[in-house]
Amino acid sequence: MPARKPAVAAVADRNILPVVTPKPECGIDDPIAALQVIRDDLGPDCTRCKLHKQGRKQIVFGVGNPRAELMFVGEGPGADEDAQGEPFVGRAGQLLNNMIKAMGIRREDVYIANIVKCRPPGNRTPERDECETCSPFLMRQIAAIKPKVIVALGAVAAKNLLAINAPMSELRGRFYDFLPAGAGSDPSWPGAQLAVTYHPAYLLRDPRQKGEAWKDLQMVMKYLGLESPGKSVASAQ
Ligand code: SF4
Repeated sequence: MPARKPAVAAVADRNILPVVTPKPECGIDDPIAALQVIRDDLGPDCTRCKLHKQGRKQIVFGVGNPRAELMFVGEGPGADEDAQGEPFVGRAGQLLNNMIKAMGIRREDVYIANIVKCRPPGNRTPERDECETCSPFLMRQIAAIKPKVIVALGAVAAKNLLAINAPMSELRGRFYDFLPAGAGSDPSWPGAQLAVTYHPAYLLRDPRQKGEAWKDLQMVMKYLGLESPGKSVASAQ
């Protein structure tokens, strides 16, 4: 069993902040209904952060199994995702699909979302205020889905979820206890284990790191009791 480390104090601090306004999905046990409430609350044309006026075509909310045991969280939509309204559908998405397949499961079995739901112009890294404005909706999605494991794809996702500013070499290779900020106590869900691995777009640029990503996914598979069909990420394109 890999070492589990609690998420850093910053996350704990966020989690003990009093929830002043109950979220509209509170008390809704059905994750499909809860996700719809969150989507409706976000609105059809969210203007909460400046990404709404920087060329986005549409909001990319998230996709997948509302009862997923495993969630992947990336940074933000790219051009293909912006065009199609679905996260991870371009070349990086194809590699993510192959990574999921190598774990012995299907894309439809997991839930996929991003820290920000609108495409940053020129695929730049989302800025701090954009992440802070948008990520509460992701936190609510996580609380509705109640996954066993969350895999943060890349440093931006990891740093925003964990509130840690550390290099990937330090973030990878362990589990963190994760409870989304603002989540109330839920006897049916103690929170998720969060693991960090490389973003598929980075793996496309540096395929030598696929072996390291596969180690991260194997750690997750072991925790979830998943059997690999025998194909590693190293052979995924
Ligand atoms: S990134 Fe999030 S907060 Fe910003 S406009 Fe899009 S949906 Fe709204």
